[in-house]
Amino acid sequence: MITGDYHIHTTCCDGKNTPEQMARAAYRLGLRSLGFTAHSHTSFDSGYCLAYDATPRYIAEISRLKKLYSGKMEILCGIEQDMYGECDRTLFDYVIGSKHYIKCSGKYVPVDKSQKELLKAGCMRDLYTLYYEQLCELPPCDIIGHFDLITKFNETGSLINEQSKRYIAIATDALDALLLRGVPFEMNSGAITRGYRTTPYPARFLLERICEKGGRIVLTSDAHSAGGIAAHFEMMAKLARDIGFKSVWAPSENGMVEKPL
Ligand SMILES: [Zn+2]
Ligand SMILES: [Zn+2]
Repeated sequence: MITGDYHIHTTCCDGKNTPEQMARAAYRLGLRSLGFTAHSHTSFDSGYCLAYDATPRYIAEISRLKKLYSGKMEILCGIEQDMYGECDRTLFDYVIGSKHYIKCSGKYVPVDKSQKELLKAGCMRDLYTLYYEQLCELPPCDIIGHFDLITKFNETGSLINEQSKRYIAIATDALDALLLRGVPFEMNSGAITRGYRTTPYPARFLLERICEKGGRIVLTSDAHSAGGIAAHFEMMAKLARDIGFKSVWAPSENGMVEKPL
C-alpha cells in the first residue's frame, strides 16, 4: 500500500486548496507522508507559479504544517522547479525537475496549457524533437517530473504517433540520457485526474525501459485540489508491479528512501 504523495500544488501557486486543507485531506486519506511542491517562479509566465517574493511565505507555511502534523504525518517542503524557472534548491527538502515549455525561436512555448497554443508554435514532430532534446539539459534534481508531458493532449493519438519508430527513438534517447543520472522518475497520475489521459506519465514503453535499466520510480498525483491527492495510486502500483518494479522510492528529509510496492 502506498502511503505517501510527493507532488502537490496549493493556493501558493495554481492549486485550488490551501496547504492546510491539502494536509487535512491527505491525513484523512490515511497518508503517512505528504510532499508539497509549489511551482518555482518563472519570470516569463508568472500566472501559475510562486510569485517572485512568495517563496519565504510558502516555506514558512509548510514549516508550520510540519510542526502541526509532527508525529502524525511527515510533511516535506519540496519545489517543482521548471527547467527555466528560478529557484534556490538549498531551501527545499527535495526538487522535482520538470519541463513545461519548449524553447522555440526565442520564445517559451507552454507544453501543457492548451493544444491550440502548442500547435501555433509548429508541427508536433519538430516540437517533440525539441522537447526531448531540451529535456536532456534538465538542471540537477531529485525526481524527474512527468517525463513525457508533451503527450498530454495526445490521448486519441491525433497529435503524435507514439507507436512510430521515430517518436520511440527520440523519447528513448532522452530517457537513456536521464537514466544515466541515477535519479528516479515520477509515475504521475495528474493528467488522468484532470481528464486528459487514461494512463499515467510516462507511457508504458518508457516505464518498461526504466525498469529494464534498473531505474527507479516515485508515485505522485500532481494534485491541484484535495480530491486529486493519491488519485489512481492503486492502478499505478499495479501497473508498476506488472512491469516488474519491486519497489517505489520516496523523498524524505534524509534523501530518497525505498518503499515496498
Ligand atoms: Zn509540472
Ligand atoms: Zn506539478
